[in-house]
Amino acid sequence: SSSQLADVAIIGAGPSGAVAAALLRKAGHSVLVLERQHFPRFSIGESLLPQSMAYLEEAGMLQAVVEAGFQYKNGAHFVHGEKASSYDFRDKHSAGWGTTYQVERAKFDDILIRCAAQQGADVRFGHAVLAIETGDAPSLEAADEAGNAYTVKARFVLDASGFGRVLPRLLDLESPTRMPARAAIFTHVRDALPAGSTDRNKICIAVHPERRDVWYWMIPLADGRSSVGCVAEAAFLDVPEAGREAKLRELIRTEPTLAALIGDAPFLMPVRHIGGYAANVERLYGPGYALLGNAGEFLDPVFSSGVTIALRSAHLAVRTLERQLRGETVDWLADYDRPLRRGIDTFRAFVDRWYTGELQDIIFYPAQAPSIRRMISAVLAGYAWDETNPFVADPVRRLNTLHRACMTL
Ligand code: FAD
Repeated sequence: SSSQLADVAIIGAGPSGAVAAALLRKAGHSVLVLERQHFPRFSIGESLLPQSMAYLEEAGMLQAVVEAGFQYKNGAHFVHGEKASSYDFRDKHSAGWGTTYQVERAKFDDILIRCAAQQGADVRFGHAVLAIETGDAPSLEAADEAGNAYTVKARFVLDASGFGRVLPRLLDLESPTRMPARAAIFTHVRDALPAGSTDRNKICIAVHPERRDVWYWMIPLADGRSSVGCVAEAAFLDVPEAGREAKLRELIRTEPTLAALIGDAPFLMPVRHIGGYAANVERLYGPGYALLGNAGEFLDPVFSSGVTIALRSAHLAVRTLERQLRGETVDWLADYDRPLRRGIDTFRAFVDRWYTGELQDIIFYPAQAPSIRRMISAVLAGYAWDETNPFVADPVRRLNTLHRACMTL
């Protein structure tokens, strides 16, 4: 078996791996990306948040994303029975982008990794990482589809393997997540929303009429299709594969807004199921490696924060790694782990209260002060690290206080 050299080896070519690869190339480092699958490939996670635009721009990918013609997005529309509440992300507390896109991930992820390759990253599709030796000079064992094994020696390894969670599994880094076991079933439909209708520009999040802990997404995509899914505790969606389509149809019929928007529109792919996606690790780094995006911590899909956190992690990790590669002493806990988790903790406070119903009370409260609404809007737009926002600086206390006010006024 042969041996390959690179400054940085990256496991996985999803959004976090692609952005990290491009940023490292910009800093002049050699990068080898090993990706098990062949692109374009399906991925869930189709609704972006405006905060992610800054990282696409920094990585030199924004023009290619804009030119791809994805569905424009400017907010989130929440419904629960007769109640409805729309957040426009352009009207928000934090500075920065207020619009973004809803994307078919197969195409989006392919664009990002091509941008990284154009900037000089060596990307190998159909190559899986099988083992690691950690330390000052880490090495990976990899193999192509013909079974040819080889070793990659690098100065550092970034694990961007998403739900593959390569290093957490190989190194036994998994730590319990506090999130209950939930699951999702989803598909794409040919929708009946007219082109140019304002509805297309927002993700629709609908609460189940009888169960506040069950919710649906409808994410309009370009070309008259929408992604539709339902999230619930795992047992609620535990039907045999052959029964998934009927289950999703029945759930759509149960929710009036989606029933009206989707009706009996044809499903464009078999209904898929994903569960056990909430995950965590003790630490997001170790000797010679760091974990990006979903390979680290993943909370919950309700606020579409996954890709934004993945890109933020690439941005923060590369900033730290660049200094290390220049010979500076860096502190991965203080410079990477803690700063990334600050924003994840903001989302956690929101996610926890979504499922108890408290955040739903806040979102549907009809008389919210505009300044408070703009602070909530900023977090929903992904600005979960902007400490000038009181709901970022102290999310638990601020949300609890606001909830009490909404219930008593
Ligand atoms: P990924 O995009 O998962 O990429 C990882 C890559 O690593 C894959 O291509 C994989 O093939 C490769 N890989 C894995 N193992 C190996 C190996 N051994 N060797 C080599 N390569 C390997 N996020 C949003 O932003 N918006 C949403 O609307 C949204 N909705 C979601 C809905 C649901 C139901 C779920 C579960 C998640 C959702 N997410 C959403 C989250 C989103 O899917 C992820 O956060 C995002 O894809 C993470 O990106 P990543 O770069 O970390 O990993």
